[in-house]
Amino acid sequence: MFADIAVPLPLFQTFRYAVSPSIGRVVPGSRVLVPFGARHLIGVAVRMRRKPRTGRIRAVERLLEKEPILSPQLLQLGLWVASYYLAPPGETLRIMLPPGLLTRKVSLDEGKVVGRFWPVKRQLAIVEVESDGERLTAKQSHVLEHVSKRTLPLLVQHLLKEIGSSRSVIQSLASKGAIRLESVEIYRSPWALSEIVGNPDKHQLTSEQMGIYKKIRTLLAQSGFRRMLIHGVTGSGKTEIYLNAIEYALSLGKSALVLVPEIGLTPQMSGHFRAWFGERVAILHSGLSEGERFDQWRRIREGKAPVVVGTRSAIFAPLFDLGLIIVDEEHDSSYKQEDLPRYHARDVALKRGQIEDLLVILGSATPQLETYHHSFEKGKLQYEVLRSRILDRPLPTIHVVDMSHEFQKRGKASTISEVLEVGMRKRLKRQEQTLILLNRRGFASALLCRSCGHTERCQNCSVSLTYHQKKNRLMCHYCGYVSTVPLRCSACDKEYIYFLGEGTEKLQGILRQMFPEAVIDRLDRDSVRTKGSLQKILGDLSSGRTEILIGTQMIAKGHDFPQVTLVGVLNAEQDLRLADFRAAERTFQLLTQVAGRAGRGEKPGEVIIQTYYPNHYSLRFACGQDYRGFYEDEIRFRRNFLYPPYTALASLLHHGPDRDKVWQLAEETGRLLIHRREELSSDRRMRILGPAPAAIEKLKGAHRVQFLIKTTSRKELHAVLEAILNDLRERNVDLTQVSVDIDPVSLL
Ligand code: ADP
Ligand code: ZN
Repeated sequence: MFADIAVPLPLFQTFRYAVSPSIGRVVPGSRVLVPFGARHLIGVAVRMRRKPRTGRIRAVERLLEKEPILSPQLLQLGLWVASYYLAPPGETLRIMLPPGLLTRKVSLDEGKVVGRFWPVKRQLAIVEVESDGERLTAKQSHVLEHVSKRTLPLLVQHLLKEIGSSRSVIQSLASKGAIRLESVEIYRSPWALSEIVGNPDKHQLTSEQMGIYKKIRTLLAQSGFRRMLIHGVTGSGKTEIYLNAIEYALSLGKSALVLVPEIGLTPQMSGHFRAWFGERVAILHSGLSEGERFDQWRRIREGKAPVVVGTRSAIFAPLFDLGLIIVDEEHDSSYKQEDLPRYHARDVALKRGQIEDLLVILGSATPQLETYHHSFEKGKLQYEVLRSRILDRPLPTIHVVDMSHEFQKRGKASTISEVLEVGMRKRLKRQEQTLILLNRRGFASALLCRSCGHTERCQNCSVSLTYHQKKNRLMCHYCGYVSTVPLRCSACDKEYIYFLGEGTEKLQGILRQMFPEAVIDRLDRDSVRTKGSLQKILGDLSSGRTEILIGTQMIAKGHDFPQVTLVGVLNAEQDLRLADFRAAERTFQLLTQVAGRAGRGEKPGEVIIQTYYPNHYSLRFACGQDYRGFYEDEIRFRRNFLYPPYTALASLLHHGPDRDKVWQLAEETGRLLIHRREELSSDRRMRILGPAPAAIEKLKGAHRVQFLIKTTSRKELHAVLEAILNDLRERNVDLTQVSVDIDPVSLL
């Protein structure tokens, strides 16, 4: 027998090896040790073959487990991801598994495989109790009595904590034969031992919620691939529907998978799942240690956790009898992986649904345009809507402040408009809370010279450096480059340099001066760098201690704080300046989502949006909370300029340290693209834009030249790109300096 093995290297092909029956039963999905060049790698068998390829053939050296590490369905899903997103199969399978399981870092020590590839943790535990041992001291019999009341195995570490005595008592009990000690496998848990799990607060579903829940039950009882979009305004109680749906799926003997954008940002969400499903929940996200992630994965694989809640890569969780996948906030851009493989977890969820014949529910208050289009217009996904907030709480009222009027009225530029200031004072008096969104961290967004117009720029990226006051440094938000603050302009050597543009750090200072008595806190990537600080910021808001919370888009996520009655948005138009066809959509989503944080409790909410572009359609429709209106304007733009959903879109990016070489190669690729289009694409369906400098021309030291490829035929898009990658490989181009992004979310 022979097997095609995918190895964890950035290579597009698989490699054929001989498999001798003496090493065990190798099947697709098995993890194996193979010789590769002068070293060893751990790979996955993807296909069994009867014939060798021509040339030298080497043999699989070892089968690493009896059970294949990937089920046939997950292997199929992984190979689909690799081919759809044009990613190396081995690299794709590697990110589907916990870190370390597929690895290039293997060494063989006297025939023993050494590596971090099955990092089970063991601890000493009491596994058996005999009571008729030798004579015991009073202390020893006291401990023994305690142990005999407990279920075994009992970890020694836990026992010591409970009884507060020393290890020597246990050792002497063991040497007298009263107990037997053994090292047992343990699960590292992401829950703090002290964490209190509340009782689930289950609500009587409203009639809108009930209507949808009943339809979900019907769908869950059926078989085949089914899809639903729940379009529910903010605060309409989508989570409650998910929880009920999962409970029902469990009652049918099915497991369930829930994807959420950034679980660390919404501890409330995981709290709900823990309260409803207790130990049956596994949580997967990037905040876990490697060991914790591995153990969560193992619990899922062993069937101990039929409910999985996690971020992007949790879509590959090894659940059995999966019956339901929920993708919450399906529009969120964190579902798109920006590194290889550049997959979108929502789209992978739909594929998994198709492979495993199950129900996939997408939920959002602001569905991505394509999702809404496929659902409401095309009927590919069952469309369900929640029009009202829970208990008919009103949606917040929204005012727009035109900042150019404000400037004329006051005769000076102000950060906080009069209306917003009055609103904030009112909230402070009534002991209600205010959120202020300013989607830029740091103090000042640039350092500008008044004399010559020069701005201080990153040496690795074509962006200006942001000033951070607390650190008193200029920093690049793209590559992390840090520099000291010059006293003179680095171009003209004059000292007329000043800080331009406001970030959250500066805003905090301004608000402290305006409201010296108020408790003001800040939520952005800088303020949550230390462990536990995020929990503290959210905890202080929830307990009512914080009166004003400033933040970047992090404050717009699914938080549910009933005492927030005012939301202010500064520089609402800021993202519209980006050269990206999704800029309007992203602005609409962000404003709608952040507005959705106001008035979630008994008191109604108010939102004040400050902007210089009060007439931009994304702002107008966000203010009117009019998704349909926004959709109609935006879809016209997409149709006229041939963007998704009217075309399939891909970006092909050349990047490298030498500007001339990158451009030379891009020119060559341009010629190849035109040639391949003629050969592989019927009529003139396919448009190729480029080569052109990317919006961020230089990033982390690499010059970037981009092509955009648009076509109505996805098949032809894949055929052409595959051919191009082959052409480049044949020309010995380093493919790590070529990035292909299918269905890109951001074009910067
Ligand atoms: P969404 O995710 O749609 O923004 P949530 O699921 O966070 O909304 O629900 C908003 C709030 O309403 C939460 O505090 C939730 O506990 C509460 N809630 C949900 N369903 C009900 C219900 N049927 N009755 C009373 N309160 C509910
Ligand atoms: Zn940089």
